[in-house]
Amino acid sequence: MTKQTYFTKDSVVITKELIQELLVGAHNAHPNEFFALLSSDSNKAIEGYVVVPLFYQTENSVSYRTDLLPLGFTISGSIHSHPNASNKPSNADLISFSKLGACHFIMGYPYFLENVACYDYNGNLLKIVII
Ligand SMILES: [Zn+2]
Repeated sequence: MTKQTYFTKDSVVITKELIQELLVGAHNAHPNEFFALLSSDSNKAIEGYVVVPLFYQTENSVSYRTDLLPLGFTISGSIHSHPNASNKPSNADLISFSKLGACHFIMGYPYFLENVACYDYNGNLLKIVII
């Protein structure tokens, strides 16, 4: 089993290039929600993502078309935007976090670096390390 060094119990590592690209994605999607799944091929940092073409969100569930992911894409976590400025997870967020990957970023409006928070699968806040 490969050691996942991009993620510890209290911190997550992401590349500066990627987080900036995702913040632009959130900005471009506004006022709609931006959603992507994250990957870490290097295991040193989150450095890849796929914008998931279709997902359905209700009060208590979020569904992903995982059949549309590229072959070999391993899900490390997720990132989505909150056009309402809060970067706290909703109840639906907490349920989906528990099902999908280790770390989950939320970008609150107006989508600057200080508006980004990251949570583990239990909804505990993680320190974001940018490299
Ligand atoms: Zn959310």
